[in-house]
Amino acid sequence: MQDTNVSNRAFDTLIVGAGSMGMAAGYYLSRLGNKVLLLDAGDPPHEQGSHHGNTRLIRHAYGEGAAYVPLALRAQQLWADLEQETGTTLFARTGVVNIGSPDDPFLREVQVSAARHQLPLETFDGAQASRRWPAWRLTADQIVNFEPDAGVLYCERAIDAYRKLATALGATLRTNTRVVRMACHGRETVNVWTDKDEKFSARDLIVCAGKSTRHLLAPLGLDVPVTRVRKTFAWFEAASGLFAPDRFPGFFVATDIGGYYGFPDLDGSGLKLGRHDAGEAVSTDAPLAPFGAEPTDLGDLQAFLQRYLPGAGKLRVGRACEYDMTPDTHFIIDRVPACPNVHIATGFSGHGFKFASAIGEALAERITQGESHMDLSLFARKRFV
Ligand SMILES: Cc1cc2nc3c(=O)[nH]c(=O)nc-3n(C[C@H](O)[C@H](O)[C@H](O)COP(=O)(O)OP(=O)(O)OC[C@H]3O[C@@H](n4cnc5c(N)ncnc54)[C@H](O)[C@@H]3O)c2cc1C
Repeated sequence: MQDTNVSNRAFDTLIVGAGSMGMAAGYYLSRLGNKVLLLDAGDPPHEQGSHHGNTRLIRHAYGEGAAYVPLALRAQQLWADLEQETGTTLFARTGVVNIGSPDDPFLREVQVSAARHQLPLETFDGAQASRRWPAWRLTADQIVNFEPDAGVLYCERAIDAYRKLATALGATLRTNTRVVRMACHGRETVNVWTDKDEKFSARDLIVCAGKSTRHLLAPLGLDVPVTRVRKTFAWFEAASGLFAPDRFPGFFVATDIGGYYGFPDLDGSGLKLGRHDAGEAVSTDAPLAPFGAEPTDLGDLQAFLQRYLPGAGKLRVGRACEYDMTPDTHFIIDRVPACPNVHIATGFSGHGFKFASAIGEALAERITQGESHMDLSLFARKRFV
């Protein structure tokens, strides 16, 4: 339940943005006895950020860089722990196929990641893969890497699970409360002000407010190069049975008509498909145009289906969502140089959800122990300086 009388309480940590990363951090901090206040502009999970749409892929043999693999494996373990603690299904082991041309850098890095970390990975050519998973119309010159242990996370359910556990452990959550300003005083105190004219203070602060992060950090003398990008995705009829989870794994495909990802027909929801590249940059406060506002919203997906998954049926429903993109698509997880007690987690560039459990844990460790046991050096902001 929402606590309405919290202004005068002393907190150890304020978390601005109680979405994917923030809610996880709130839970791991609360478990360590840290007194947490989470502030969110909406009522998470919700549809005003980056975490809606029911499902997210979790891959381990990581095409974006082998350096992510330990974080992915730690995240997978923590998702399993969360399932056990809450008795909720949060992960479906559907397997994931990564598809592309043999010289595609993403595909090559998937193979490097698997080899370096001894991950199970089966390799097929496109013709063999089309026989094994008959929905796919692939050609022999395409490579298919199948990760049997990867799969699908139920993202909103996971945020809800963290919310319930964190609040049960004593965390305070203020929903529908937008943070408008922040300040820090060396290592002593951080302050935030909300759109309800409230001021909160604590020793530590985590800023993981998606699209607002850049704007909120500017007065602390820090620019994080993050751009908000509109994305769309949709569900299609899958009555043929070709897209059932035992016949059709989750997928990521690099093609000459774009990078696409998708999900099997889970629980009768239909085939879910989205385009990972492309999308328009939008300003922080602009409302997102709904799915269908741009002809490419549906047009791109249909072109892909026609060529590669011709058994898919009609559009059921589509949604708009947002990515917070960094120039190199790697995350930013760091501290504010002038305010060492202000932690930042942003720029998840359309591939962050799978790591939310491990990043929440790592932020909690940084705050309570000074550093995390995970290597987060890839995400330091100084790479842009
Ligand atoms: C369509 C789509 C598909 C994706 N697919 C995958 C996938 O398959 N696998 C994967 O790993 N990742 C995927 N991602 C990426 C992943 O979902 C994001 O990287 C992740 O959710 C980002 O987490 P976050 O905590 O930064 O943002 P969010 O979860 O959006 O949380 C940010 C929170 O900040 C709050 N907020 C904003 N401004 C303020 C303010 N001023 N004051 C207070 N609160 C504020 C918001 O309300 C929100 O709750 C996908 C993303 C999209 C959009």
